[in-house]
Amino acid sequence: MSDASAILAASDVRFAYRAGVEVLRGVHLAAAKGKFICLLGPNGSGKTTFLKLLLGVLSPASGRIELEAKPLEQYSARALAKKLAYVPQTPTSALNFPVRELVLMGRYAHTGAMGLPSETDLQVARLAMEMTESTDVADRTLEELSGGQAQCAMIARALAQQPGVCLLDEPTSHLDIRNQLKIYRMMRRLARDWGMAVVCVSHDINLAARFADELMLMKRGAVIAAGGPAEVIQKNLLRETYDVEIELIPTSDGPPIVRAH
Ligand code: ADP
Repeated sequence: MSDASAILAASDVRFAYRAGVEVLRGVHLAAAKGKFICLLGPNGSGKTTFLKLLLGVLSPASGRIELEAKPLEQYSARALAKKLAYVPQTPTSALNFPVRELVLMGRYAHTGAMGLPSETDLQVARLAMEMTESTDVADRTLEELSGGQAQCAMIARALAQQPGVCLLDEPTSHLDIRNQLKIYRMMRRLARDWGMAVVCVSHDINLAARFADELMLMKRGAVIAAGGPAEVIQKNLLRETYDVEIELIPTSDGPPIVRAH
């Protein structure tokens, strides 16, 4: 992972909610366009906090976060929304808007909230819904959708922003395995076909290892390992990170399955 090719780069990032209690202790990340990165680690290891720093919601105590080689804090909210999209674990706002309008909201950074959507805005929104298989539910509100459909609609909104980077916080935590697979495939497509840098906090080591280009293992605010699945899916690293015995079961077509004991 070289910083030069990264659209979003964090170096030596430290953060504490309370003085003296460091939650992030020198974290590095280089997210390149076209790459899908999963952040893994036990509860409380600092993944969500790090995502909030990458989003500009929190500021590091020290270290640098740069988007397109410019410090994050130098962006206005609107400029940031053009380049960075966020998909939460579960939708908490805009629940009573039809999907069609929700996805168009993704265009606000480009059009302004008061402006009428242009033909381009409508076309981008249409494409985003097609890509996420949300067209059939375009007239329904988020409240009227299943968890999987709602998550696809949220990803459609992120896509409509046409960002260079998409950040997701455990987007599959409430979904069944079919929808988990669908979302992981979709995240990989956002990177491979749409050229985004995709960074996702994940709890599913096996899905992350199967679909992501890079994994980052965190524990107590530090990075234990980062790299391709073959480098990171290793017994000793996983045992050290999660404090459980690990068995690796080989597969014919990808990284081994991780089973914890
Ligand atoms: P993860 O996403 O890996 O579960 P978090 O980033 O949520 O980890 O949490 C990292 C640490 O920061 C934990 O010890 C957690 O208790 C603490 N923490 C998280 N949010 C806050 C907060 N708003 N105020 C104080 N401490 C927090």
